Amino acid sequence: MRDQSITDDLLKGIPKAELHIHIEGSLEPELMFEIAGRNGVPLRYASVEEVRSAYHFTDLQSFLDLYYEGMKVLLNEQDFYDLTWAYLQKTSSQGVRHAEIFFDPQAHTGRGVAFETVIGGIRQALLDGERLLGVSSALIMCFLRHLSAESAMETLSQALPYREWIAGVGLDSSEVGHPPEGFKAVFDEAEKYGFRRVAHAGEEGPPEYIWQALDILQVARIDHGVRCMEDQKLLKRLREEQVPLTVCPLSNVRLRVFDSIQEHPLKRMLQEGLCVTINSDDPAYFGGYVADNYCTVRDWLRFTREDFQKVAGNSFRASFLGERRKRQLLSELETYFAS
Ligand SMILES: [Zn+2]
Repeated sequence: MRDQSITDDLLKGIPKAELHIHIEGSLEPELMFEIAGRNGVPLRYASVEEVRSAYHFTDLQSFLDLYYEGMKVLLNEQDFYDLTWAYLQKTSSQGVRHAEIFFDPQAHTGRGVAFETVIGGIRQALLDGERLLGVSSALIMCFLRHLSAESAMETLSQALPYREWIAGVGLDSSEVGHPPEGFKAVFDEAEKYGFRRVAHAGEEGPPEYIWQALDILQVARIDHGVRCMEDQKLLKRLREEQVPLTVCPLSNVRLRVFDSIQEHPLKRMLQEGLCVTINSDDPAYFGGYVADNYCTVRDWLRFTREDFQKVAGNSFRASFLGERRKRQLLSELETYFAS
């Protein structure tokens, strides 16, 4: 029986950070239609309802096909601004005080949209988010692992003029068959420029990919990482080094990494002493933003108040925030639970 005092409003109100959100995955069908209309981009759906009803995924790839299709409406700086601004407003209403946001430049430059158009629109919205909503943020540029290491390297050079706007680099897209080790050179290069490094690993891919991300790419965080539960030695390492794992429960169920939320290992991961955080991944596609994920684990994984305080604290501790703001947000969190 769940604790009835843990209401939706209580979970929404928890000050928290979101560390695993692909901005293109926050494109809601309504905005997709609006932008498609003004850009004259034809959609293969007749209505918003038709788009939503197409969101039945069998695995990561079946989602990625629709994800890349949907983002084709994004052409101008204003489109990237609107996309990012919509996410910030939504996530701010769910208690997010700091967001570390992924973007996929290759998914746009590959369609002829300039790098500066993409980052310019996102950047302006992030500045407005800080000013008008009090949401601080960091931007993480992801390399698409289904593309070549050369293409990733080229993307890194395109990003250098915007070095000040980008906190780190990541690795996403189709995991199986595209192990982290293939991207060693570009991650090494990114390190030289002072970029933080993270990577998706151990979502659909084996625990071995998590080892590679840690040892070969030298990442500060693992995105997903749920398959670490299959490897005792890895578990020990992750626990001892308190490597943050950005877990996305609704995403994992929608993409059939687990057949049901009841089978999700998040609670066990927490009990193992791992530094887990809860995130939305691609909220427009997976049925919920960050607090919706909090509600889901309350309902199905019996998360307690202490569990929520722990994961929200982890979200700040695992962030790339400076020490001062980190401390400020952690003390806000403490006050929230004390009252
Ligand atoms: Zn992701």
